[in-house]
Amino acid sequence: MAVRATASRFPIDSDALEASGLPWGLTVTPFASKDESGIGPAYGSNGHLLPRCEHCYAYFNTYCELDQWAWTCSLCGTLNGLPSDAIARYSYPHDSIPEMSSSFVDLELPLDGSEQEMTQARPVYLAAIDLSSSEEFLELTKSALLAALEALSPGSLFGLATFSHKIGLYDVQGPIPVVKNVFIPPDAERKLPLELEDAMPLLQFLAPVETCKDRIAAALETLRPITSWERSSGAAQGIDGVLMGGRGFGTAMEALFNYLGSEFGNTFALARVFAFISGPPDYGRGQLDTSRYGEQYASKRVDADRALLPEQTPFYKDLATIAVESGVCVDLFAVTNEYTDLASLKFVSIESGGSLFLYSSTDDSTLPQDMFRMLNRPYAFNCVLRLRTSTEFKPLHSLTIYPCMQYGHFFPDPQYENLQHIICCDSYATYAYDFDFANNTGFSRHSREPPVVQIAFQYTVVVPPEGLQNSELPSSNRGKHLLQRRLRIRTMQFETAQNINETYDSVDPEVVLSLLVHKVILVSLEDGVREGRALLHDWLVILTAQYNDAYNLVQYKKGNKSMSSQIDITFSQCPQLEPLPRLVFALLRNPLLRFHEEGVHPDYRIYLQCLFSVLEPSSLHCGIYPSLVSYSTPDKQAYPRHSLSRAALITSGSPIFFLDAYTTLIVFYTSTADPSLPFPPPQDCLLRKNINMVKQGRSITPKLMFIREGKDDATAFENYLIEEQDVDGSGFASARGFVSFLDDVSQSVAEYMK
Ligand SMILES: [Zn+2]
Repeated sequence: MAVRATASRFPIDSDALEASGLPWGLTVTPFASKDESGIGPAYGSNGHLLPRCEHCYAYFNTYCELDQWAWTCSLCGTLNGLPSDAIARYSYPHDSIPEMSSSFVDLELPLDGSEQEMTQARPVYLAAIDLSSSEEFLELTKSALLAALEALSPGSLFGLATFSHKIGLYDVQGPIPVVKNVFIPPDAERKLPLELEDAMPLLQFLAPVETCKDRIAAALETLRPITSWERSSGAAQGIDGVLMGGRGFGTAMEALFNYLGSEFGNTFALARVFAFISGPPDYGRGQLDTSRYGEQYASKRVDADRALLPEQTPFYKDLATIAVESGVCVDLFAVTNEYTDLASLKFVSIESGGSLFLYSSTDDSTLPQDMFRMLNRPYAFNCVLRLRTSTEFKPLHSLTIYPCMQYGHFFPDPQYENLQHIICCDSYATYAYDFDFANNTGFSRHSREPPVVQIAFQYTVVVPPEGLQNSELPSSNRGKHLLQRRLRIRTMQFETAQNINETYDSVDPEVVLSLLVHKVILVSLEDGVREGRALLHDWLVILTAQYNDAYNLVQYKKGNKSMSSQIDITFSQCPQLEPLPRLVFALLRNPLLRFHEEGVHPDYRIYLQCLFSVLEPSSLHCGIYPSLVSYSTPDKQAYPRHSLSRAALITSGSPIFFLDAYTTLIVFYTSTADPSLPFPPPQDCLLRKNINMVKQGRSITPKLMFIREGKDDATAFENYLIEEQDVDGSGFASARGFVSFLDDVSQSVAEYMK
C-alpha cells in the first residue's frame, strides 16, 4: 500500500489551509505490494484478533501507547482495555508480532461462512466478441485471446461467446466446437426468446482451460463477421427494409451476466468478462444514438464539449449493477475510430471494477500485450477501503455525482461514511482523497499529538495451487485454487507546519497534480471542459498570489521594506512549487482538457479520464508532462530531463531523444544525428534497456515509435513539444506558448492581489 500526501507537513488550521492556496489530501494505492518507499508490510494471520478502538474503530498500531492492560488510540486518544488474548500475545517479544513491529501490516482473516463453503473458487473468464465487425477486428481479438489463454492459470474456466443480432455460445468440450445461437429481439422492450441456460447449460459452456485450449483456439478460428445478407435475413430488418444495425451489445451483456450469475458463490467468487466491441450498440437493449456527435455543434449556446460528456442512457449503469450482483467484473476493449459513446458505455466497466481500453486502429493496437499483462498480474476483489483520521480533520467527499469517477473507480458505501467498496483492483489502481478540518480549531500549535491517518483495506485474493505449498491443507484440496481474505493496514503520522513556508517546502507536486486532475475531471463531467480549464487557471492564479503574499511578508519581517512589486510567477524561492505552473500548462494542453475543435475525439477524452483517474502520482505526472531524456549514442545518456520545447532540443545539441508520455514512447533521432548511429537502436543498448524497463513497470502497454527527423513524419513527436504551443490552441503555434501563458497568469495575479 503506497500512500502519498500533498504535503508531509499539514496546515495547522483552516485559515492556514486557505492561505496556502494548495489542495490538501493524499493518494492511496491499496493493493501495491510495497509502500511508497519500497518497503513491504509485516505479514501475519488472525487479523480479526487485532484490537480496535471502542470509540473510533481504528485498529491498534505502532503509534498507540501500550500498557500492560490497556492501550491509547493514536487517532482519537481513547483509552481502551486490552482483550485477554492480546495481553497474552503482546507479552511476547515484539518483533514476532506484525502490528507491534510495523505500521504497515497485512494479516490473513478467517473466511466467513459463505466464503468458507466455496474456498475452491475457480477463476472464470468469459470473452464476448462483437461479430458485427470486420476481419481485422476479429484477427486482433483472436490474437489477444490466444495471448490470454497462455496467461490463464490451470484450473481456470473459459467461455467463448459472440454477439451481433444474435448471441452465440460455444461448446468446446466435445470433439469439435459447437455453437448455439439465440436471436436478440430488435427492440429494447422484448426479452430474449430463450434463456441462455436453456440454450446451453453454463457448465457445458465454461470449459477447463488446460484441457480445452486447442479447441478454444479452433473455435476462435471459425469466427467471421456477420454479413449484411445474414443481418437482413435475420431479425434486423426494420420498417421498409431499412437495415437496423446489428450490434446487440446491451442485450447480450445483460443475458451473459445473468447466465454467469447462477454459479456466483458456487463455482466462482469473481468472473471476469472481456467484452470486445467495434462500434456503438445499435440493436436490442441499450442502443446508443450516435447522431449527437454531429449535433454538438448545433448547440451554440452551451459548451460543445460538454454535450458529449454525460451518458445518454442509465442503461449501462444499471447493467454494471447487474454485473456486480452476478459476481462479474467487465473489462471493455473498444477497437474503433468511429464515435462509440464511451461516455455511456464506460459505466459497465468502471462500475463493475474493470478497465476501459480504447484502440483507435487495429494496425498498431497493443491489445494482445495489454491482455496478457492484465491477466498475469494479481488482483484483489470484494475490497473495502476505509480511511480514518485523527479527530481534528476528516476526509471530504462533497462531489459525488459520479461516484465511480470521483477520486478513482469505487462505490461509496451508502451507509457508512468514508468507506468505499472496490469490486476489483490491481496493484496499480490508485484512489485520492481530500481533507478538510473537522472544526475551526485545527491542530493545536503546542500539541504533542501529531495528525494520524489510518487506511484499512480488506480484500480477497485467489491463491493459485502453487502458492499453497506451505499451508496445511487436506489432500482433497491440493491442486485447487483457494480464496484468501486479508486485511492490510497502514498507519501514518504526519507533522504540522508552523508557518506557510514549511507547508510549501514539504509539498509533493506530483500529488498536488493528482488531486487537481481528479478535480478537473469531475468539474468537466459536470460543467464541461471549459469550466474545468477555468478552474485550473484560477487555481494557479490564487496559489501564485498566496505564495507571493507569503514571500513578501517574510521579506517585510526581515526588515526589507522595499518590497518588490514584481510578481514571482516561477516560485523561484520554493523548489517544491516550481514545477506547478508547467504542470498546469501541460494539463491545459492535454487532450483531457483540450477542445474538440483541436481534434480531440470525445471517446478518447473519456478513455483518458478513466485511465488518469486511477494512475498513481508519478505515472500521472508522466502522462501529463512527458519525460524527455537525451542520448549522445544509444549507449550513453546525455541529459536526464529536458523541458518539452523545440528550443531546448536544439540548444542541447543531442542527436537522440527518448520521450515517455505514459501511453506512448517515442525514440527521436534529430536530422543532425551522425548517420553512423544505428537506427533503430540495437536490442542490447542502454536506450533499449531503459525502454524495456519503462514498459515492464506499466499498467498498460505503451505504444513504441521510432522517428527520424527529415525521413519520417515527425508530427507525433512534435505534438508533445508543448511549450511553444498556445495554451488554448486558438492561435498558431508560436514561440511564446508557455512564456505568454505565464505572462497571462502574472496579469491575473496582479489583478487578484489588488
Ligand atoms: Zn480511537
